[in-house]
Amino acid sequence: MSRNNKWIVKNKIAEQIKKGLSLLTADALISKKGNVQEGDIIHIVDEREHFVAKAYYGEQNKGIGWVLTTDKQTKIDESFFKVTLKKAFNRRATFYQSEDTTAFRVFNGEGDGIGGLTIEYFAGYYVINWYSAGIYTYKQDVIQALESLVDFHAIYEKKRFKQKGAYIEDDDFVTGTRGEFPIIIKENNMNYAVDLNDGAMTGIFLDQREVRKAVRDTYVEGKRVLNTFSYTGAFSVAASLGGAVQTTSVDVAKRSLPKTKEQLQVNNIDDEQEKIHVMDVFEYVKYARRKKLVFDLVILDPPSFARTKKYTFSAAKDYAKLVSEVASITEKNGIIIASTNHAAQSMKQFKAQLNKGLNKANISYQIKEEYRLPEDFRINQHDPQSNYLKVVVLELM
Ligand code: SAH
Repeated sequence: MSRNNKWIVKNKIAEQIKKGLSLLTADALISKKGNVQEGDIIHIVDEREHFVAKAYYGEQNKGIGWVLTTDKQTKIDESFFKVTLKKAFNRRATFYQSEDTTAFRVFNGEGDGIGGLTIEYFAGYYVINWYSAGIYTYKQDVIQALESLVDFHAIYEKKRFKQKGAYIEDDDFVTGTRGEFPIIIKENNMNYAVDLNDGAMTGIFLDQREVRKAVRDTYVEGKRVLNTFSYTGAFSVAASLGGAVQTTSVDVAKRSLPKTKEQLQVNNIDDEQEKIHVMDVFEYVKYARRKKLVFDLVILDPPSFARTKKYTFSAAKDYAKLVSEVASITEKNGIIIASTNHAAQSMKQFKAQLNKGLNKANISYQIKEEYRLPEDFRINQHDPQSNYLKVVVLELM
């Protein structure tokens, strides 16, 4: 760290930082002084060069760094990480005590005071996600803080920053006693198999916990359920346990077939009775139309962006088309649960897209429910993109 690293930000941005904004973007800067390396602590100053905050430099797709404190006296050292992590863990006390749910997010980036860093807990194991080479330079501090604050079987890590273009696939084990994967975690008493050392993903996206619960408890009894972009079939498990007559899971990735079977099996669901298609969702809709298949409940949970051999799906551009396509295989009074994690889009913009798609298909509907991130995915109100998850439950009419 060099004391000479100084970034001058526009006064307007300086004011926002004082109020709580933590993400730094390149266009907020007027000038940079010092030869800054990833991970360096930078003094953010206003146009008159008055101190505003301390931040670290870390390149992510979202921005170029994160504010860590607006207090000039606070040192960014091992103790800073310990205090910040401890506060976050204390906020999750009720999650730690739960017997029904044994997996949750214990540290959520800018929502808990350190952007670019998230930590999840899976039944005694911790997984750290590093989103930039900059935050990764603090690995020792974060590991030491974890070791001093909590008991664990083992810590794993995911390096989610670009080095020669991609997620860095290697052994993700950090310390402790290696797990034998899959381990089974509980979520509202449903079982999910997770593997913490198998590439970028673990087998479950914890941010959909409340939506899975709603699917199981409210929307599926006696229903035919279609789960699109199904990944490991987490929603299909919830649907089947909630009394769906049949679930159909559709995902283009080959691994989704064995992974979905596994998730069903660890819940004692007969996987032979459920349908799993390794297929592009848009192809599946055509297939279903030909076969005259209709569904009472359709779950849409696509990635923000994905490219398959035939199609490119971009949530920002293609969601209207997606919803109008699936509406054509949804029962007249059926339900569509539409979800997006596209951070740059607001709830209002997302709803406008759904409206456009359904209007085009000449279908009227009402919005029954909306979901945002669960409590453990703590957001920073001053960084709107941290509130990325938007889920709308639509009833067709
Ligand atoms: N809904 C899932 C998470 C989805 S992750 C859950 O609840 O856990 C996104 C998934 O979309 C990936 O598994 C990816 O393989 C799949 N995918 C991306 N583009 C697709 C497409 N055009 N058709 C089908 N699946 C697609």
